[in-house]
Amino acid sequence: PSLEKVAIIGSGNWGSAIAKIVGTNTARHTDLFEPTVHQWVFEEQIDGRNLTEIINEKHENIKYLKGVALPHNVIAVPDVIKACKDASLVVFVVPHQFIHGICEKMKGHLAPNARAISLIKGLEITAEGTRLFSEEISRILGIPCAALSGANIANEVAMEKFCESTIGCPDAEDGLIFKRLFDTPYFRINVIQDHVGVQLCGALKNVVAVGAGFSDGLGHGSNTKAAIIRLGLMEMRKFGQTFFGDAVQTETFFESCGAADLITTCNGGRNRKVAEAFVLTGKPIEQLETELLNGQKLQGTLTAHEVNQFLQARNMQHEFPLFNTVYRIVYEGVSPELITVDI
Ligand code: NAD
Ligand code: 13P
Repeated sequence: PSLEKVAIIGSGNWGSAIAKIVGTNTARHTDLFEPTVHQWVFEEQIDGRNLTEIINEKHENIKYLKGVALPHNVIAVPDVIKACKDASLVVFVVPHQFIHGICEKMKGHLAPNARAISLIKGLEITAEGTRLFSEEISRILGIPCAALSGANIANEVAMEKFCESTIGCPDAEDGLIFKRLFDTPYFRINVIQDHVGVQLCGALKNVVAVGAGFSDGLGHGSNTKAAIIRLGLMEMRKFGQTFFGDAVQTETFFESCGAADLITTCNGGRNRKVAEAFVLTGKPIEQLETELLNGQKLQGTLTAHEVNQFLQARNMQHEFPLFNTVYRIVYEGVSPELITVDI
């Protein structure tokens, strides 16, 4: 069989850390993968130079993952059509708000047998319904799409600190191929079938992390944060049971993508950090995102809004008091103190 040709779509903080892993593994498993990996990079200027040129010359993404060497077989490409041309395995790792436009451009340019995997933590939620990003990618591109999510703060993974991650893939054979693409001694992959639960956990934990950040900003301690994490986990499970039924397995919450990701994000993530600053400074979230994250993007506040629209359309927001309170603090200006009152 011919070798799998891999493309990575996205090059932010996580996109860059994952490029290091994917590039290392394609060079290692030459029985399965073509070593060269094309990575689509959203072009921007750094000190008058194109970021793609800097990455290809220095083998470092100096804006989104400074100080980490990238494998030389990962090539930064500014044109998404060229980046994905004839790819048979496509890794999607962009902030969730950008995925639509990107997929539309990619239509018709992949290999006929292409499969995708989504590393995106977010949900497409409209008043009409919810859609997972794997479903959205499948729908637009007409290819199967698995999911990878876990307790994976990008900077720590890039420094090769041990962690685990979960791949949800309904097709067992593809699951093994993706395992070989991502698994390393410091990034241990477990493959399960439940790609719905994997993505649901990855999206909803970001809303809980915003709540954890409010708690930190108010100066509450570990016990309060543990309570927010527990209540959040219960709401995540209830959301899955209510709107996805048997498609979500309870065991999935015990994988890295479940409780473990919730714990790490509520302690070391960007959503937590910005939410804490929101309480301490009173500045708007968008301003803090710009001031604190150097171009990186928040997912949790957007997801809180999307989840709220979905629940309100069903008049069910009060059945998810933590999600609802996070939403009201960010978007309706109610006091952050309510994070320990209304949940
Ligand atoms: P990031 O937050 O660093 O986002 C910035 C990226 O968005 C940059 O590559 C930037 O060039 C790009 N961008 C900016 N404007 C754009 C536009 N108009 N169109 C397209 N792209 C644009 O990105 P990330 O950390 O790689 O996150 C990607 C996904 O991975 C998210 O869903 C996130 O939740 C998830 N994730 C992140 C981490 C982490 O620790 N960073 C870990 C696991 C999962
Ligand atoms: P943040 O986006 O809050 O930094 O979370 C990163 C993450 O998903 C860790 O697994």
